[in-house]
Amino acid sequence: MIIFKGTGIFGDIAFGILSIHQENFESVNKRKVSNVEEEIKRYYSAREKAIKEVRTLYEKALNDFGAAEAEIFAVHEMMIKDKDYENTILDIIREKKINAEYAVWNTSHKFSQIFSKMNDRYMNQRAADVRDISQRIINCLTGTKKLLHHQKDAAILSVQDLTPSDVSSLNRRKVAGLILSKGSEYSHAAIISKVLKIPAVVNLNKTIKPEYDGKKVIIDSFSGNIYIDPDEETEKRMLKKKEEADKRYELLKYLKGKENVTLDGRKVEIYANLNNPSEIEDILENDSGGIGLFRSEFLYMNRDSFPDEEEQFNIYKNIVQKMGDKRVIIRTLDIGSDKRLDYFNFPTEKNPALGYRGIRVCLDNPNIFITQLRAIYRASAFGNICIMFPMIISSDEVKYIKKYVEDIKKDLADSKINFSPDVPLGIMIETPAAAIISDELAEFVDFFSIGTNDLTQYTLAIDRQNSIVGKLSNPHHKAILRLIKMVVDNAHKMGKWVGICGELASDESLTELFLSMGVDELSVSPSSVLSIRKKVIETDTNKIRDYF
Ligand code: PEP
Ligand code: MG
Repeated sequence: MIIFKGTGIFGDIAFGILSIHQENFESVNKRKVSNVEEEIKRYYSAREKAIKEVRTLYEKALNDFGAAEAEIFAVHEMMIKDKDYENTILDIIREKKINAEYAVWNTSHKFSQIFSKMNDRYMNQRAADVRDISQRIINCLTGTKKLLHHQKDAAILSVQDLTPSDVSSLNRRKVAGLILSKGSEYSHAAIISKVLKIPAVVNLNKTIKPEYDGKKVIIDSFSGNIYIDPDEETEKRMLKKKEEADKRYELLKYLKGKENVTLDGRKVEIYANLNNPSEIEDILENDSGGIGLFRSEFLYMNRDSFPDEEEQFNIYKNIVQKMGDKRVIIRTLDIGSDKRLDYFNFPTEKNPALGYRGIRVCLDNPNIFITQLRAIYRASAFGNICIMFPMIISSDEVKYIKKYVEDIKKDLADSKINFSPDVPLGIMIETPAAAIISDELAEFVDFFSIGTNDLTQYTLAIDRQNSIVGKLSNPHHKAILRLIKMVVDNAHKMGKWVGICGELASDESLTELFLSMGVDELSVSPSSVLSIRKKVIETDTNKIRDYF
């Protein structure tokens, strides 16, 4: 038996046959061609096929996951059609009189090198996309189907990392589990594996050798362990763990409709995070008490201009109406850093995570901010809305925001447009600055929501997108836990409530600590609502260990 260790995504056990998907990108043959025009025709026909494939993937991703996840395929189509890319390929075929596969491979290499060297994370990511589209065209030229389309039933796929194309083409009935030797737990692939409920292990400690292909494998995505050629004892132990997990998921269904109260009578709200309006059904299905974070920036993605007030109003209205009287906390546009819009001119920055993002962009661009706030206020007439603002570092920012809000309320009232005048206003606590001055900030707002993803990155000085330092990131670090406690205490002193909406809210090993601190609301992924409820119901806050 060989054991590998990584990070587990979506707790479950999967049994299957290991199917190793190797990148064959480097092994494209180079050959001379006598008929250049014929070769160019071959290229164009493969290009057309590739465009059709990405369009199909776009439709599928849109249907299965939503607009934000589908966007990447629109980008891929644009990249395939890019004139520079196309002309470089044609020039190579013509000048060197060589085959189209090699010309595409060579162009891909050139372009991805250029993208990788750019001083901009967004452009760096495009390097992987160039490789993805080029591999697709090469496959169309050679007639190779990707291995991912040909898995045997109950395959456990092992790949270096998955591109968005791969994720969308997975056949859930055939893929029992996923092993991504490189991927991070915050990657697209990991997030989608949670949505699809596919047990996955990412970011392995060592490489899985090709000779293991076809062997029996078990992945334990609770612990992140992978067992190749498991011995009898391990197999039995895993079967037992799987049975327990299945029973647990069954049990969780009984928790629907139950209150989130600890054994000693403490109540907490358990809400869900919403990234895309299409996830609402999942949120309701899992009996979430509300939406603790609607990442509204996803409405601005996968398009070529800003959504206007009317369009946004209709989307917000639809969401709040579906949620009935449950609270919907809408976070205003949080773009910048890794969340870019093609149609907005971001400055070139050396450190985008420390740069132009979140509220900084909105306060600098009043038209964008006012349009969104007006749409949210208009929707507030139809449900239970709260608004919160991202990336706050000072009370001056909050004062500016409130001035905008007052002007908008006045304009709406003057125009006799319905809205709720008492929409609670909160801020995200996701910078150390905001946590440290939370006593002062509490005066100006109705609530706080702690964004532990960014709070961890900024407190520990570890870029959340950077896989080189990713292993150093530790959201359980005492510094983070102490900051959270400080924020809760400061808010409560001023009679304000506090939620947590970063990934840490879903971490069951900290639920009791958060309860003992008096956190009022936890906003988690929809599939975690019931398991966190179970944890709450089983907790006695009088018996909590010392975390500090
Ligand atoms: C956070 O930073 O914890 C958060 C919830 O915001 P996002 O992950 O969207 O940056
Ligand atoms: Mg954040």
